[in-house]
Amino acid sequence: MDQGLKREIEAKVYAGERLERSDGEALYACDDLAWLGRLAHHRRTELNGERVMFNVNRHLNLTNVCSASCAYCSFQRKPGEKDAYTMRIEEAVRKAREMEDEQLTELHIVNGLHPTLPWRYYPKVLRELKAALPNVSLKAFTATEVQWFEKISGLSADEILDELIDAGLESLTGGGAEIFDWEVRQHIVDHACHWEDWSRIHRLAHSKGLRTPATMLYGHIEEPRHRVDHVMRLRELQDETGGFAVFIPLRYQHDFHDAQDGKIRNRIQARTTMAAPAESLKTFAVSRLMFDNVSHVKCFWVMHGLSVAQLSLNFGADDLDGSVVEYKITHDADEYGTPATMGREDLLTLIWDAGFQPVERNTRYQVVREYDQPTPLAQRRSEPQQVWA
Ligand code: SF4
Repeated sequence: MDQGLKREIEAKVYAGERLERSDGEALYACDDLAWLGRLAHHRRTELNGERVMFNVNRHLNLTNVCSASCAYCSFQRKPGEKDAYTMRIEEAVRKAREMEDEQLTELHIVNGLHPTLPWRYYPKVLRELKAALPNVSLKAFTATEVQWFEKISGLSADEILDELIDAGLESLTGGGAEIFDWEVRQHIVDHACHWEDWSRIHRLAHSKGLRTPATMLYGHIEEPRHRVDHVMRLRELQDETGGFAVFIPLRYQHDFHDAQDGKIRNRIQARTTMAAPAESLKTFAVSRLMFDNVSHVKCFWVMHGLSVAQLSLNFGADDLDGSVVEYKITHDADEYGTPATMGREDLLTLIWDAGFQPVERNTRYQVVREYDQPTPLAQRRSEPQQVWA
């Protein structure tokens, strides 16, 4: 990058001025990773100090049966396929209850677009989960699913959200966003929820007092300019509603195995490689700098591995999700040896080892508990250091 432009962008960041689209594209073209990290860390520290938030959650995927066949997706199955499944409501409650003793604070629920499950199944699941675990927040359904519910129920998103909120919904999930630019989206997304509907549904959720996450799937066939465009759209919507609690860059995953039937469902992996760790760190940094009006940037460690997750905390991220447990969407694709679950103690050690102060949060980003500051590295050198996979 031209030194003059570097100085110009740096001056804007330190003055708290908003970066433009062209600045974002220039930042992606810059390979000075240490400099990018410094700028992003400055912004992250201004907003969140040395704190790293995490939550104790469990992911539940009620069904992997889906009417769509998104090109990047390794999770979906068609009705009748050998490992297609749909949970009975009692099974969902039993799974949720398995973590009761660990002071779970959130259930994160996303699903395929099941062709025949009736709409009434979904609020019923929420009601039963809430009855079984009244202190646990329900973060459920992507905007894509809400649009699907409109189709199968004949109700409007307004009516659907009202019923889901009445059943216990506290937040939508941030998925279904992928990359909004149609140039890319038309090749990777097979369902009917695009920017117009995705933004309509999140805007509506915000107007009803829900705070929602927003995601971006990167590292496939998109170019950096598409990532910048994606964040610019979200930033504009955030200016309007202020309802996004967090931004989550999600690293696209190849499908390396399918133990059950040997099929590779991912249809774009022959055309692309996955983002290398340096590209991921750059994406965290540029996202933090461009999405200046969102309070938190989250690293979903399952998609990055634990070492990159620790590094991301110096590249703009300040939130780690979470204890997770059985995240089928990525674990149906990857073979990276990331654990299926991280308990509260594991997360605390991970954050302390990275040199930050852990803060447990709930779904609404309210503080549940602040933990001790990390032991300074200089005092830890005499002890063997944990190596995170
Ligand atoms: S990404 Fe979601 S909507 Fe698309 S095929 Fe997979 S489960 Fe279905």
